[in-house]
Amino acid sequence: MGLKHRIKSGLRGLYARALWGSGLHRLVDRLSRPRLLVLYGHCVDQPATNGSLDADMKISGGRLGEILGALGRSHDLVTLGEGLQRLRSGDARRSMVALTMDDGYRDNLHDLVPLLERTGGRATVFLEGGAVAARELPWLHALGWLVGRVGAEEAATRVASRLGDAPGSPAGVTEAGALKRRLKYEADPGPRDAALAALVQEEGGDPAEIVDALYLSHEEARALAAAGPVEVGGHTAHHPVLSRLDAAGQEEEIAGGAALLRDLFGEETPAAGAAPLGSSGHVFAYPYGRRWDFDDRSPSAVRAAGYACAVTTHAGVNHATTDPYRLKRWPIHDGTRLHEVGTEASGGFELLRRLGIDLVE
Ligand SMILES: [Zn+2]
Repeated sequence: MGLKHRIKSGLRGLYARALWGSGLHRLVDRLSRPRLLVLYGHCVDQPATNGSLDADMKISGGRLGEILGALGRSHDLVTLGEGLQRLRSGDARRSMVALTMDDGYRDNLHDLVPLLERTGGRATVFLEGGAVAARELPWLHALGWLVGRVGAEEAATRVASRLGDAPGSPAGVTEAGALKRRLKYEADPGPRDAALAALVQEEGGDPAEIVDALYLSHEEARALAAAGPVEVGGHTAHHPVLSRLDAAGQEEEIAGGAALLRDLFGEETPAAGAAPLGSSGHVFAYPYGRRWDFDDRSPSAVRAAGYACAVTTHAGVNHATTDPYRLKRWPIHDGTRLHEVGTEASGGFELLRRLGIDLVE
């Protein structure tokens, strides 16, 4: 972490602690217009189903319950669609917090739903069509499995030998994060995916088994979508970096993912297309979601596929006037601090942003 980043992070902590600890956040909240804070994560920590995933993709049930409980005292807990609907209709008496979970992991049904039922929380789950509906192993989890099996350095060597001189070949890479980045942003998706699929097989892995262990089954996905506190939304077919695709490729991924979910859910749960705001099926999350992971062509492809909004992973809060296809979100994992997320939920960081100081980005 660079010095500038450390100073910013230190100031952010100090400011948030002062505001949250003193109770002043309530005053800030009341003095500014109602807002929707969207939280995002992937999994409730559950060794039986997501033990193999990176720590920053998980939050313990205890901590998530604590955050929802604390924020729920001053905010309405809503799904993303409900929150947006209330902002638009001017019907938001209090500010709101919407929890979202990306990709469609099994704990979302087995661990998250009971937690929501206990705490009165609501959640929106964005499902990858290829993994959840078509049972295809995403390249990232093929890579994760391979690295777990042979280590990052050896995995990089083997992928490099399969890719040859192709762009993004990770020859000489020794660290898992660097390997992931190289394959994500530099390698051609086709050859990369083929190389990883072949290597999983070579090591005796069963792609279907890896998908089944991590992702909701068809039955589980339907049970999740039918659960009271949950709405489901789209997240493309194959979780690509959309900005690396041309316009037609983006449309294919976004509309294709929606079509897979429609096949999975049928009529009961509209999953993309013409669904009323506030029910399942109108919400979308950009894969990875950072400003370089999608581009100016993405929002129109999302709209054309029938979605009424799209969330990014840019930090901040949302208002009625926020571009619905560039909604902001705040990450939650075990490193998330209540005073910081509480300060954002209360409009505390936004107050500074209006003064030209951004302690979050
Ligand atoms: Zn995702």
